[in-house]
Amino acid sequence: MKADFHLHSSFSGDSDTAPEQIVETGLLKGLSAVCFTEHFDADYPYDNVCFVLDTEAYLERVLELRSAYEGRIEIGFGVELGLQPHLGELYRSYVGQYPFDFVIGSTHLMDGKDPYYASFWEDCAPKDGIRRFLEITLENMKAFDDFDVYGHLDYIVRYAPLEPKRFFYGDYGDLMDEILRFLISHGKGIEVNTGGYKAGLGCPNPCPEVLRRYRELGGEIVTMGSDAHAAEYVGGFMDEARDVLRDCGFRYFTVFRGRKAGFVALD
Ligand SMILES: [Zn+2]
Ligand SMILES: [Zn+2]
Repeated sequence: MKADFHLHSSFSGDSDTAPEQIVETGLLKGLSAVCFTEHFDADYPYDNVCFVLDTEAYLERVLELRSAYEGRIEIGFGVELGLQPHLGELYRSYVGQYPFDFVIGSTHLMDGKDPYYASFWEDCAPKDGIRRFLEITLENMKAFDDFDVYGHLDYIVRYAPLEPKRFFYGDYGDLMDEILRFLISHGKGIEVNTGGYKAGLGCPNPCPEVLRRYRELGGEIVTMGSDAHAAEYVGGFMDEARDVLRDCGFRYFTVFRGRKAGFVALD
């Protein structure tokens, strides 16, 4: 079974891809399941993009697509929440209002700023920025833990002005271990986000060292997702991600239906 559990369509503020194009590409690429995980980033501070999600319209569209593609491909209704330490209450009530299959919690903002923009790094050393990103990630999950997996744990390396562009586990092992232990003790997973390949990192997010450490500490829940915002990237680099997972000691990857984990052999 091939399944892409991190996908954005035009319901996300930073994509203009029709949801049916995502589903059609999933079929073409031989996926048995696609799970939409549209962005909802409450209190996103920039005006150039809106990450508020019209969840009612989105749910309606997913239900239409489900009946149109019944028996051909499974279509999941998920969300990627942009967490911030002060948003726990808001997201707890939001998640309870909709019949989600899958919820990703992600760190996109640090102290109200987005490290995606080069201006963020003008007065922030790369290693300090990465450390702060991980501290905030930990704060975020302590404030809100009604998610199924944490998204792209080390994705800050995509934007930090580092050469080479990679995450050195040894530089942040104390913090990363605290994050992984928190996730494992709360029954939470992580994802293999193949957007890292697309960003030129040569590996997924998080990198194999972090995946291996999650496994060593007892973690078993790992979903696979492309983080595609355009149809051409749907299902991208899934074979590479499988190899990485196997190398890191995993025998299964995870899919979610109705917020319940299902385990699929990495054959
Ligand atoms: Zn994200
Ligand atoms: Zn995403």
